[in-house]
Amino acid sequence: MTGTAQIGVTGLAVMGRNLARNFARHGYTVAVHNRTAARTRALVDEFGDEGSFVPAETPQEFVAALERPRRLLVMVKAGAPTDEVIDEFAPLLDEGDIVIDGGNAHFADTRRREAALRERGIHFVGTGVSGGEEGALHGPSIMPGGSAEAYRAVGPMLETISAHVDGPDGAPCCTHIGADGAGHFVKMVHNGIEYADMQLIGEAYDLLRGVAGLEPGRIAEIFRRWNSGRLDSYLIEITADILTHTDAATGRPFVDIVADRAEQKGTGRWTVQTALDLGVPVPGIAEAVFARSLSGHTDLRAAARPLPGPAASALGGRDADGFAEQVEHALYASKIVSYAQGWNMIQAGADAYGWEIDLGAVASIWRGGCIIRAAFLDRIRGAYSADPALPSLLADPQFAKEIGDAQPSWRTVVIAAARHGVPAPGFSAALAYYDALRAERLPAALTQAQRDYFGAHTYRRTDREGVFHTRWSEDR
Ligand code: NAP
Repeated sequence: MTGTAQIGVTGLAVMGRNLARNFARHGYTVAVHNRTAARTRALVDEFGDEGSFVPAETPQEFVAALERPRRLLVMVKAGAPTDEVIDEFAPLLDEGDIVIDGGNAHFADTRRREAALRERGIHFVGTGVSGGEEGALHGPSIMPGGSAEAYRAVGPMLETISAHVDGPDGAPCCTHIGADGAGHFVKMVHNGIEYADMQLIGEAYDLLRGVAGLEPGRIAEIFRRWNSGRLDSYLIEITADILTHTDAATGRPFVDIVADRAEQKGTGRWTVQTALDLGVPVPGIAEAVFARSLSGHTDLRAAARPLPGPAASALGGRDADGFAEQVEHALYASKIVSYAQGWNMIQAGADAYGWEIDLGAVASIWRGGCIIRAAFLDRIRGAYSADPALPSLLADPQFAKEIGDAQPSWRTVVIAAARHGVPAPGFSAALAYYDALRAERLPAALTQAQRDYFGAHTYRRTDREGVFHTRWSEDR
């Protein structure tokens, strides 16, 4: 039996419901289904007048409501529930049908699911979706992975409901990322970069407060100013809003009544774990993940609290504007570094898994809809369109010039953080990465010599080809 719905959405919690509404608002007929049927009924009752919905109570009804080839978007809890839903629906599908998983799946699971469904002739499109609840409704950034054939069948619809840069006629924030797990891999790195961005913004705030002695309202003004410059981005914008927000119950700045323990759902951790597996250095993202984890160790923090350190707020408001300008440079330079690491990671994933990922296109689809959307991404797109084989964003002439101009202030800020005892792991790690890359010689020479000393691991020489080992006990 063939139905009339061009797309079906199963899993109607916040994300699925809003994506279904987004499809319907764009004129598609949308079959909707949820394990607990009350959610399906609630969607149609509340939003039925927004477009054409076909509610389905059972998987059979849902599948029957779809036109061929069937397109099913799965928006259920990531992990085992996704497998359960696939196992439930796959026997009801025919060759050529397309299952889209828009949940936050690990890319390795997506590779496994894609291979299993491919055996049955069913396409599987592992799709990263960024932008949260609001993005899902008004236009998220969408990162689909899967075969080119599957993308031809679902890409135009996904592009239609995605965010568009420069209005509805502009470029869609959706593109075919690559085969099997490429979309979820890129979404994972997006989240890793998001962690780094948030950490760097947190450090900038902490330095303005702890070193310059500024109050949240004043810091909000500084962030607003930054948001009209090269740091123009969603995260800077919401930070300014948060910093002006007052807690209704106490009248205190909202930021002061929130417990200082940052939680995480896991995509940042996946990014770092995968980076370790791939051997690609992403210390900016790693520091951000560890900073969240450290914040949650209240017992450790309580035990260390009596340890000595300098008193914070040495400037006492003096030359705060000058310091804020230096912090802007440090933030911008550190941001370039963490994005450079993220892009290198995407390239490393592409190399390891045989994906052909257009690095400029990734920057392009993150310009709108997603949490890290920023004017800055257009610059990254430009850098990769000028040189698709760019080995690092730091090698782009314009970014190189900017980071070079920023580095004296960046160093001053890292020194100030250390001097005043304000932790700035993101700024410091970014600067260390920058200095390590530009160093003529690294102490890795000594590390390798040590490895040869205690483990006969051999070494290479700077003056001759070949592999060498020194008999340390005899050659001294
Ligand atoms: P969620 O809380 O992650 O999941 C709830 C949904 O999953 C409900 O529809 C629930 O059905 C269904 N579900 C759970 N276990 C199931 C099972 N065993 N079989 C069938 N259905 C099952 O919902 P969400 O926040 O809307 O997120 C949906 C997906 O999008 C997740 O993978 C999430 O990681 C991803 N995502 C979320 C965001 C975000 O900002 N929230 C952003 C991007 C991506 P019942 O109603 O029957 O319980």
